[in-house]
Amino acid sequence: MQKAKILVTGGAGYIGSHASLVLLEAGYEVVVLDNLTNASQEALQRVEQIAGSSVTFIQGDIRDRACLDLLFSDHDIHAVIHFAGLKAVSESVTQPLSYYDTNVCGSLTLCRAMQAAGVCRLVFSSSATVYGPDAPVPYHESMPRGRTANPYGTSKSMVEQALEDLSQSDERWSVVLLRYFNPIGAHPSGLMGEDPQGVPNNLMPYIAQVAVGRREELTVFGNDYATADGTCVRDYLHVMDLSEGHAKALGRLSTPGLHIYNLGAGKGVSVLQMVEAFARISERPVPYHFAPRRDGDLAAFWADSQKAEQELGWQARRGLDEMIADTWRWQCRNPQGYSTDIHTKSQRTSKC
Ligand code: NAD
Ligand code: UDP
Repeated sequence: MQKAKILVTGGAGYIGSHASLVLLEAGYEVVVLDNLTNASQEALQRVEQIAGSSVTFIQGDIRDRACLDLLFSDHDIHAVIHFAGLKAVSESVTQPLSYYDTNVCGSLTLCRAMQAAGVCRLVFSSSATVYGPDAPVPYHESMPRGRTANPYGTSKSMVEQALEDLSQSDERWSVVLLRYFNPIGAHPSGLMGEDPQGVPNNLMPYIAQVAVGRREELTVFGNDYATADGTCVRDYLHVMDLSEGHAKALGRLSTPGLHIYNLGAGKGVSVLQMVEAFARISERPVPYHFAPRRDGDLAAFWADSQKAEQELGWQARRGLDEMIADTWRWQCRNPQGYSTDIHTKSQRTSKC
């Protein structure tokens, strides 16, 4: 039987590369479209090395309609998982037009190309940020989208709205919106992980770089929140659990309409708890100092993920210690991320 082919936009990135691996292992064919603005092709070579099968890589941009049309005419795509986008919250404040252009215009261009090609099955990478600062915790999918605190969050909310309208306008469409909480961790092999460019914005890669000696100390933003230890609380989930959620979401695309799921572990962890756990597992000190709150940060939020459990049969299975141990393995074995090491040849590569 022919394998179903999945287009993974942004598939060379952190989550997309782990999801591509899970898809290959689940028996799908994978076509990755990525412009490599925040990724290395080396990530896909690692995917192929672990999976023992190849990914078709196309270097191109989701805003390039001609590239998309060519891709859909060359490949019989069953469904699209759309990860491609810009994701740095603070950068979105200083460069809003880039964020709206890539995240919103890019997603609309992708949908137009999909519609023209008759491919109307889409899984979209959304975020817990769409609930906004006023939503009570835990967040539940039945809550409305709230006001957003920055252009990144607004771009996710706008795309969600567009996809909701699209799925209502045309019954051929089936769309799954996956609202991620805080993905961390790495593939257990130590071959794949998060490889942020420059100074990491996110907590986990920053702690890992302090523990390995690449950075002096962590700045903890705020210790005066109304939480148990005064630092912010987030719902961290393993990137492999998150990736498995995408494979499950593909099954939901057989039902037309819009389907929304939170993907989180459902448990809050504070910044200081994370620091303590990382130091314990890595057996390295993680020095830190307190600084004022970071603009736009919320005190605490976590997911109610029961809907994903009931309808997708998905649950975050890996605990915090495993997330940290896998991150640490990746960090130790690849202190400079993907920029060093093995250079195997990707099987099939083309450029738009
Ligand atoms: P990432 O930056 O590692 O991956 C995004 C990928 O998209 C990169 O490989 C980048 O090169 C590619 N890309 C960017 N612009 C593109 C364009 N115009 N055309 C083609 N490719 C393009 O980020 P990630 O952490 O893997 O996030 C994946 C998705 O999940 C993003 O949409 C992000 O907003 C969303 N998300 C991430 C998190 C998180 O904490 N990592 C949380 C919620 C939602
Ligand atoms: N954080 C921190 N120092 C850092 C990076 C993050 O104290 O160098 C805190 C941040 O204030 C937030 C939590 O860690 O409370 C998670 O931040 P991250 O950027 O990883 O995720 P998000 O803001 O998207 O929840």
